[in-house]
Formats: sequence, C-alpha cells, structure tokens
Amino acid sequence: MLHAKGTLCTIDVGDRAARTETVDDELSEFVGGRGVATKLAHDRIPFDADPYGEENRLYFSTGPLQQSQMSFTGRMNCTALSPLTDGVASANAGGYLSRNFVGTGHSVVELTGESDELLAVHVTDEGVEFEEVPELEEATVPEVSAVMNERHGLESENLATIGPAGENGVRFACVMTYDSRAFGRGGLGAVMGSKNVKCITFQGDSAPEVEIPAEDVQSSVHREAATSDHIMRRQGTTNSIEFVNDNFSLPTRYFSEQSFEHAEDIGGDAVEEKKYEKASCSVCAFACKLPTRDEETGIETEGPELETVFSFGSNCGVGELVDVMQSNELCDQYGMDTISCGNVVAAYLASEEEFGNAELVHDIVEKIAFREDEGDLLAEGVARSHEELGVENFSVKGMEFAAHDGRAINGQGLSYAVANRGGDHMYSTTLADEYGGDVDPRGTAGKAELVVENENRNAFRDSGVICQFGVGRAVESDRFEALFDAEYDDILEVGARIVELERHFRNQRGHGGEEDRLPYDLPDLESSIEEYYELRGWNDDGTVPSGTVAEYAQAD
Ligand code: SF4
Repeated sequence: MLHAKGTLCTIDVGDRAARTETVDDELSEFVGGRGVATKLAHDRIPFDADPYGEENRLYFSTGPLQQSQMSFTGRMNCTALSPLTDGVASANAGGYLSRNFVGTGHSVVELTGESDELLAVHVTDEGVEFEEVPELEEATVPEVSAVMNERHGLESENLATIGPAGENGVRFACVMTYDSRAFGRGGLGAVMGSKNVKCITFQGDSAPEVEIPAEDVQSSVHREAATSDHIMRRQGTTNSIEFVNDNFSLPTRYFSEQSFEHAEDIGGDAVEEKKYEKASCSVCAFACKLPTRDEETGIETEGPELETVFSFGSNCGVGELVDVMQSNELCDQYGMDTISCGNVVAAYLASEEEFGNAELVHDIVEKIAFREDEGDLLAEGVARSHEELGVENFSVKGMEFAAHDGRAINGQGLSYAVANRGGDHMYSTTLADEYGGDVDPRGTAGKAELVVENENRNAFRDSGVICQFGVGRAVESDRFEALFDAEYDDILEVGARIVELERHFRNQRGHGGEEDRLPYDLPDLESSIEEYYELRGWNDDGTVPSGTVAEYAQAD
C-alpha cells in the first residue's frame, strides 16, 4: 500500500533539542497523516497525561499524496491529546503548509516538553532552530506572520501559528496556517500554547521520493476539478445553507429551533456577492475558498464557511452576513475554532436572552480569547460551562456540535453519538448520504454499518491525505484503490485501526460507552449504538476488548 516517506523529527521544546528517526514500520501500517500521528500519540503520550502538561505531544504529519500534483491534496494533519474531548484528536487544515512541510524531509514532526520562554521553532531540511519571541506574547495570527516575514522572509504559508487563545489555554483554540486556514477542532492550539510555542515554521527542498501510482487517475481527478461547474467553486460550503435550512437541520438560537428566518441573508448567494477573488489550497484546481469583503464597513475575511454561518449566524440569531464575517475574522486572528466558539457564544446569548446582539457577540469572542470576565468561563467550552450558564449541554464528549442537526438527519445524529471526536460532522460525514438522498434521513436503524464504513474511510482520507471535498465527488472507492495500490477492504481496515486506537486511548483515560450519548432522543438510538459496538468488535460497554490493539500498538 502507498504510504508517506520521510523521517520523524521529535522536538523537545523544554530542552531545545531535536532528534530524527525513521518510522517506516509505522508509515507502512498507518499510511501517514492522522493514521501515523494517532499511532505515535497512542504509544507515546502517557494515558494519564494532562492535555496542558509537558508530557502531551503535538504532531504535524502529511500523507503520501502531499507529494502529488493532484487536486484535493492541499491539506495536512495535526494530532494531540485534546483539552476539549480528553482523547487523542486530529484536525486537518488546507492552505499551502503541506508542501512546505514535505520539503523538510520529515513525514511527522512531534513537539514535546514545555519551553520556559515563548518560542518560534524553525524546522528546515537542515535542522531545527529555536528563536525566543517574548515580544509576540498575545500577538494575533497575522501579526506573527508579519514578524516572521520581516525577520526571515517566511510567508504565512510556511507557518503554523497560535493566537492569544492558544496561549491562554482556550479549550477550542486552533492552530492556524496561511492566516485563515485552521487545524480547527479539539483545542490543538491550546496544546501548542501550553508548550509555549507561538509558531512553527517549515521550509526545505528535501522532499523524499514517493512514487505515486495511477498517473491517469491523478490527472483525471485534477482535470475534473479544474473543469467542474460545481457551485462550491463559487460559494464554497455556503452553497448548501438554504438546503440545510429547508431540511430543518440548521440549528438556530442555541438549538431551540432547526431553521432560521434569515438563512437567505447569510447563505451562499449573499456570501458570493461579497467574494472578491478566487482562492485555493496548494495544487488544488477546485479552488473552493472564499475571500470576502464588505465594501461599506471594510471588513475582510476568508469565509465564512457553512459551519460559521451556522455557529455565529443562525445559532446566535444573527442575520446580517457582515456580522458573521466579523466573528469569523476575530476567530481567525485570535486563533479559535469558529464552530465551538460560536456555539459557546450562543449558549451565553441563551442564558442572557440576547440572541441577535452582534455587538455583544464580538465583545464576548474577544473576552474568550483573553479569558477576561465571563470569557474565562466560556473559554472552557459548552460542556464545562453549560451548568453555570443554566442551558442545556449541546455537545458530545466535550466537542460542540457542527451544523447538520442530528434531530433532522438521524444517521448523522448516531454518528455524533459514537464518534471518538464527539459532535463533529467530518468524522463520518454520514450527512452526505442522508442529504444526497441515498439514505432516508429518518431513524437510526440499520445505519450503524454505514457509520462504521464512513468513519473508516474518513480516517484513511485524513491519513492519505485527501480533502473531504474530493472524497465521494472525485475520489471514490475505485480511485482510492488505484491511488494507494490497495484493495478497498484493506484501506478500510487501516481506517478501522485508527478509530480503534483513538477509542482505546479514551478507554484508558476512563471514557467508555456512557459518553456515546446525545442531548436528544432518536428512534432506535440505543440498539443502533449496540450494533455499532458489535460491528467494531468492541465490548457492550463501548470499550475495546483487552489485548485487541496489542497487534499494532502499545498493549494495554
Ligand atoms: S477542495 Fe477546497 S478545501 Fe479542499 S483542497 Fe481544494 S481548495 Fe482546499
């Protein structure tokens, strides 16, 4: 099977030392990206580690396709023990970082320890350098980019950076690259912040040789991306806002409603009107990104994407696109996941009865990033603040929900319940089957098998690494087989092992099936969860049977 090549570079930011080793066995078993990072995280982060402690490890990793010229591969992976979900969590970002990363000659970079001074860590094909940057304390993401450019001639596409939110341990702080692209979910920016690392830069010309098969498939995918007339190329993910709204799966006013009367005002056409140029990720001809500008106020941002339109729009009761753009931009600058942040702000608005107050929203976002006043509580996320706020806990395993309401598309609801990453739509993307009409969205019965297969495919997707917007559109099972020179069943098996390692790590930290739950009822949910465990070969209590992972990971 095709897999990434390149070394593992371990950087102890406490000792300011780096070492390099081969991880060929891990790469051949787990392909790259999320797979290899999950395997290393599982085996190397102590099961009782503090997510904010020096023993936590933060991984950046690419897959084999980051050395291709094929569209939908301009992305890479980041993994750590999450302060939000308390499990090993991975996130995936676009932009241009992946190709600069590959040039260092490494397939994985691992950060461990904790620095006594705020650092910029420079990783090149010639080694690792440490730069003390106390003057960048609480700098925004673009401010860091400007300084790195002035001092070192580095571009934002060479950088993985945190904003003030990461430094302040906001549980949903993200790692940013290219100023506007986020390793978004799970608080990985807070892990980087706890290591006192403000940014990591990657550059070099030493990409290892990877021979990627099926040149014909690569060029077909690329050509199809370049010539597609899909509406996403104009409107990104926002093209489906009104469709989602019409399907009653657009959570509104902190989940109290499932459709929003102003959906059109913040939907795809409205966003397209403010789009001022095309934008993409490295080598991707699909180019679905959305730089937008409001001429009247001068507010510029990239996006908002559908999830932000939901979290800071409908769920906050905010119906003006420019206000959502401003929330999006603040989150990018401070380095916060727009989904989790918008949800916790919506929870606050519910408690204050202030839905629709955009000025308050922007004020609270800033307070969260700096943990000021009520922002300190909200920086803990919905699961840890809802009681004090007096609102329901709309999250799973600490992870705030994405849009795509599980009460309307029940298979996606099942997926939210069982996913190791909790209330996140990208883990299984079962929503695509239900919205697409292949599967009746009503009920969960008979959908466990679909969720298992989707989770396995997506775990492999994130290891390859392929953008979700290519999967199911340009890259179906036969193209997976051709590109990775493997049977589809074997591809799914790699994905299954990744999901199992994540689950095993959670189990070792005391989290079992009691957390595979939703804040609402769905038809046949209990029996579908049982079926899910059975299909995975797990125990009735949602734990991985003793000894199962010993074959491919550190034994329990
Ligand atoms: S489809 Fe969009 S998000 Fe995915 S790699 Fe291409 S430009 Fe980036």
